[in-house]
Amino acid sequence: MTVAVRFAPSPTGRLHVGNARTALITWLFARRQGGTALLRIDDTDAGRSREDLVGAIDADLAWLGLDWDRRARQSDRLDLYRAAVDRLVAEGRLYPCYETPDELALMRRLLAQRRLPPIYDRGALALSDADRARLEAEGRRPHWRFRLDPAPIEWHDLVRGPVRFDGADLSDPVVVREDGRPLYHLCSVIDDRDFAITHVVRGEDHVANTAAHIQMFQALGAAPPAFAHVPLLADAGGAPLSKRLGSLTLAVLRDERGLEAAALTSLLARLGTADPIEPFDGLDPLIEGFDFAHIARSTPRFDLEELERLNARILHRVPFERVAGRLAVRGQGDIPPAFWDAVRENLTRLDDVADWWGMTQADIRFTDRLSPEDRDFVAAAAAHLPDDPWDETVWDRWIPAVKTATGRRGRALFRPLRLALTGREDGPELRRLLALMARARVRDRLTA
Ligand code: GLU
Repeated sequence: MTVAVRFAPSPTGRLHVGNARTALITWLFARRQGGTALLRIDDTDAGRSREDLVGAIDADLAWLGLDWDRRARQSDRLDLYRAAVDRLVAEGRLYPCYETPDELALMRRLLAQRRLPPIYDRGALALSDADRARLEAEGRRPHWRFRLDPAPIEWHDLVRGPVRFDGADLSDPVVVREDGRPLYHLCSVIDDRDFAITHVVRGEDHVANTAAHIQMFQALGAAPPAFAHVPLLADAGGAPLSKRLGSLTLAVLRDERGLEAAALTSLLARLGTADPIEPFDGLDPLIEGFDFAHIARSTPRFDLEELERLNARILHRVPFERVAGRLAVRGQGDIPPAFWDAVRENLTRLDDVADWWGMTQADIRFTDRLSPEDRDFVAAAAAHLPDDPWDETVWDRWIPAVKTATGRRGRALFRPLRLALTGREDGPELRRLLALMARARVRDRLTA
């Protein structure tokens, strides 16, 4: 059997970390199994779907490094859904209902008052032809529900293990709206059948849907695929992340926080698994180790600080070639490879490199941060700056001369030099920075 999976976002909002985790896990499984991955855009809800978000979803997934073997849009497949709906109506598996949203809300409230689950009472099944004709004459249009079989529904979930529902405990899902547009449930099942999806991977908020979907597969004459429901993320404090997801979109993490996609994939692939979270520069090591059996059922905590720490560890090892394009896009195209090598171990976010670059190139002085004695000391050191070539050998030609001339060594020597040259007490190796600053600038900063 060739594995076939799909990731099925609705273009009603930007992708957030929760979506990204589902997409990543789905994709890793496909790649691990040598299978195919379909990107399916669930855009049957014409009122809420936005075309610009389709492009944004594509860009966000590409940023993560996830590629797709096939693509589909539900809005291209409406005729196929209609044909399946007609067939299920003819077979009596879909039935027309006339309750208004207000009436349905009232029914749910009454059930809640009696502490009963919000299961539709199937009142519409009792309507006679005459009743329906009267309702239609009043101007009501039917929506359609899928009639569930009140039988046990069981599957072996790849994450949750054995799962069991009783059809009688579930509400018949609405599959066609008043305006005739098919809704998610049936469209999803038809697509999964037609694209021969072997494994449906999605968030655990879909577990009850899956029970209904299994009966829909059977009604459509198809064998249900395997299912894997991954736990939803919580925030660092353990609260459901759903409230904060708007601020944790991939766009925010990339554009506002300037984080690396590799940091996010390293974290999301291993969060809530038995495997250690490590900073991986790419996806290959994550593919290699992927196994649904490693995903715990408990709710994993997504911690932005952990992501930032991973981000720093990834940046510290990234070679210049990997960031050159992004630096150019950010207007930092003049930063030379040697500078990147000198400062990368001091970066937390890519944008920090611009701060260091600006600091070394700008016309600024820091001597006012030094004590009067230290100011005299750095001025004395300036007098011993070696001549050209101004390169990595400068340091070794300069520092011994400074030691001899001033008698200073260790911290008393290096701290004032670093402060005068960079304005900071810590940072990249001075030996390398010095070679990347102009001689005149170094002299100015020491003698101001
Ligand atoms: N569009 C659905 C969602 O975003 C897809 C769920 C599924 O994977 O079936 O929740």
